[in-house]
Amino acid sequence: GMVANSSAIRAMFEEGNRLASLYGAENVYDFSLGNPNVPAPEAVKKAIVELVEGEDPIALHGYTNSNSGYPEVRQAVADSLNERFGTSFGERNIIMTVGAAGGLNVIFKTLLNPGDEVIAFAPYFGEYRSYTNNYDGVLVEISPDTETFQPRLQEFEQKITPKTKAVIVNTPNNPTGVVYSEATIQKMAAIMEAKQKEYGTDIYLISDEPYRELVYDGAEVPYLTKYYDNTIVGYSYSKSLSLPGERIGYLVIPDEVTDSEEVQSAANVATRILGFVNAPTLQQKVVAKCLNEKTDISFYNRNREALYEGLKECGFTCIKPEGAFYLFVKSPIEDEKEFCAAAKKYNILMVPGSSFACPGYVRLAYCVAHETIVNSLPKFKELAKEYF
Ligand code: PLP
Repeated sequence: GMVANSSAIRAMFEEGNRLASLYGAENVYDFSLGNPNVPAPEAVKKAIVELVEGEDPIALHGYTNSNSGYPEVRQAVADSLNERFGTSFGERNIIMTVGAAGGLNVIFKTLLNPGDEVIAFAPYFGEYRSYTNNYDGVLVEISPDTETFQPRLQEFEQKITPKTKAVIVNTPNNPTGVVYSEATIQKMAAIMEAKQKEYGTDIYLISDEPYRELVYDGAEVPYLTKYYDNTIVGYSYSKSLSLPGERIGYLVIPDEVTDSEEVQSAANVATRILGFVNAPTLQQKVVAKCLNEKTDISFYNRNREALYEGLKECGFTCIKPEGAFYLFVKSPIEDEKEFCAAAKKYNILMVPGSSFACPGYVRLAYCVAHETIVNSLPKFKELAKEYF
């Protein structure tokens, strides 16, 4: 099953290349991939050059003493978070990881026993299911609220069981771009507190936040450790610094987490035994030098406005994203895979909502050249004429 799913994504990637070779890349409107197309800030390049030229190569490219990363890098990340969010993390609370994906696998390996349940709110990043399965966990889905794409809290409350070990949230969200409101977070936290008491268990809230920095119109993304003690944060520089191939991020395991020292030690060991050993050393030092750097959000914002307004004009409906770089558009027909196939006739590529446990919708990644959006709109207009 996993190979089939992975092959479907690969097939889409190859389809993009095939269409580009047939019609020219400028005539293909590939909205399928969440690969940032804003280059990494200049400071990243400068940091790499400085480090490679200035540091002892044996130390720079060697294994780290602790699998959790360089102490000074972890301290620098903690200091930066404390300054931004008023938290009080130290080096011990930060574990450098191989991107968000590596961090999520480390924390699932740390927390899950076979049969433990992980709750995810549809629509969600499809790989959560694979990561949960990797440790013989069971993914429990909460159905989507397609009005607001905020989590359905009543269903959430009903689906928490004594086996619930973790709840994963992703805000700003892939694929909807929705930011969970503070009120939502407060209600979620209250539900989880009550269920922990009722069952005498620990239920960990895992905040997967590779898109934290990608927000528009001044949207605020609450820092979840402040609302619920058993919160673990997974962060990544893949999108915020446009470094997805470099594989660098971190986990925050606050002291307030139950048995925090044990969880921190276990995550340190998990980093090693899952085969990561440690997060890439050069990139650890690069991000520590670039903690105040940001990607050019105005680029994505321009794309967001153009695509959202353009699609609306064609008659499509979708919620306006407050963050990330995705639009989640309602398919004009029930079978969104058929809609994706129809779009392909116009060289438009997008991902069916079923990949995010939300059929009837399609995801468009607008981290593409602005011209791609401008040139795609007449094609969307033709596509829309088939339905409206
Ligand atoms: N979580 C979400 C919601 C994502 O969208 C992605 C990547 O697109 C990841 C995790 C994995 O990110 P990383 O490249 O940091 O491993």
